[in-house]
Amino acid sequence: MTRAGAALHDMGVAELGRALAVGQFSSLELTQHLLARVAAFEHLGAFLACDPAVSLSAAREADARRARGEATPLCGVPIAHKDIFVTRELPSTAGSKMLRDYASPFDAGVVERLSAAGMVTLGKLNCDEFAMGSANENSAYGPVKNPWDLQRVPGGSSGGSAAAVAARLVPAATGTDTGGSIRQPASFSGVTGIKPTYGVCSRYGMIAFASSLDQAGPLARTAEDCALLLSTMSGFDARDSTSAERAPQDFHAQMLMRREGTTGERPLHGLRIGLPREFFPQALAADVEGVVHAALVEMEKLGATLVDVSLPRTELSIPVYYIIAPAEASSNLSRFDGVKFGHRAAQYTDLQSMYQRTRAEGFGAEVKRRIMIGTYVLSHGYYDAYYLQAQKLRRMIADDFQACFKACDLIAGPVAPTVAWKIGAQDDDPVKAYLADIFTLPASLAGLPGMSLPAGLGDADMPVGLQLIGNYFDEGRLLQAAHAFQQATDHHLRAPTAALSA
Ligand code: GLN
Repeated sequence: MTRAGAALHDMGVAELGRALAVGQFSSLELTQHLLARVAAFEHLGAFLACDPAVSLSAAREADARRARGEATPLCGVPIAHKDIFVTRELPSTAGSKMLRDYASPFDAGVVERLSAAGMVTLGKLNCDEFAMGSANENSAYGPVKNPWDLQRVPGGSSGGSAAAVAARLVPAATGTDTGGSIRQPASFSGVTGIKPTYGVCSRYGMIAFASSLDQAGPLARTAEDCALLLSTMSGFDARDSTSAERAPQDFHAQMLMRREGTTGERPLHGLRIGLPREFFPQALAADVEGVVHAALVEMEKLGATLVDVSLPRTELSIPVYYIIAPAEASSNLSRFDGVKFGHRAAQYTDLQSMYQRTRAEGFGAEVKRRIMIGTYVLSHGYYDAYYLQAQKLRRMIADDFQACFKACDLIAGPVAPTVAWKIGAQDDDPVKAYLADIFTLPASLAGLPGMSLPAGLGDADMPVGLQLIGNYFDEGRLLQAAHAFQQATDHHLRAPTAALSA
């Protein structure tokens, strides 16, 4: 049911799909309304590219398709894409100067699927350069502001995606998560996001950061919206060699499935939620701990049982990730050499100096730092000491999860140790940001699905997310638990009205 009098921008994906189906408004009207909003909130820095002609023509096409009776539930609903997905009709920069003028000849697999379902692309969203970061402060195109407090970061690297959804500029956005970049910005900005199992969404056309970790997923306001989006985005793609070969999944149906013995009041009856004790260390901020704890009490009321589990190598995920991810990045980013893609230095003397100047000019400080770390850990003499050790530990971290899943069905905990920090607060020390990834990196290294859902407000009235991690391909159960929680609570309905009206 559409809420009476709800503004178009307050409506979520499922709600918009239903309203479009009964002709309450057209996709063209909806798209025009949101484009005006994107322009009015330009100061958030969430969008990097917007082309009204492209969006309006897609909206007209969606309306025509609906008139012919060929609409899908997502037909005519607007979405915006993290600028790490290449798109034919809009620029694709990966938040880097290196790709400032790059025009892709094709659409990323994920974009292709969402567009084929009739979704209207509203624009491209700001992100950390090549998705390296936790605050969107590493974008060559400036930071994104958190709609809950314009002085604070929205999280990263999918910061534009989270901020755009939180500010009601668009009902849904795509993101990518290599070490937390969907879950952490969702937590910092008060929206819902899911990173599926590695291999569920195609990496074709997703500008590569660390290929063994990179995964696409949706950010939206509710678990239900995420389920609808993920069903459409996911699926086998022969163009991605690590794509999981399995039948198309209806995550929405899986989310709604009633498990044996459950009742309307106790929809999570029988669900065992594991709490890794390493996810609740001394260093966890008291406000975050309080909100997460209250959310877990709510899960218990809904019928879940909380069990104590352990992920003993949680702290080690930081050095392991910050060896493996830069190693893969240094290799992936070697393609940006001034010959094949993007920027080329205007002045150089020979081939070597062309490479050097191009890369010196095109990449930002964080990307250079990672290329140096990656090259170092892969070099002769250090490979065994760092890279190989990290790979061995990665396997052990994945095994630790399997030991936990003997005692529980899902794992829960915080997404990050604190709420969103002030813009510039971590400028002096990049390692501070690395340390804050502690709760998202383990699931990434193991390739497991994880999500973040709004759980309440912490210090300074900033959003806090609850993280849920599932076993491989158990997205259905994750979404089911998140949906039950959202049916019983209203944290996900809160909007950052104060900052937006200011
Ligand atoms: N914060 C992590 C990093 O900087 C994760 C980024 C991501 O998931 N893309 O690498």
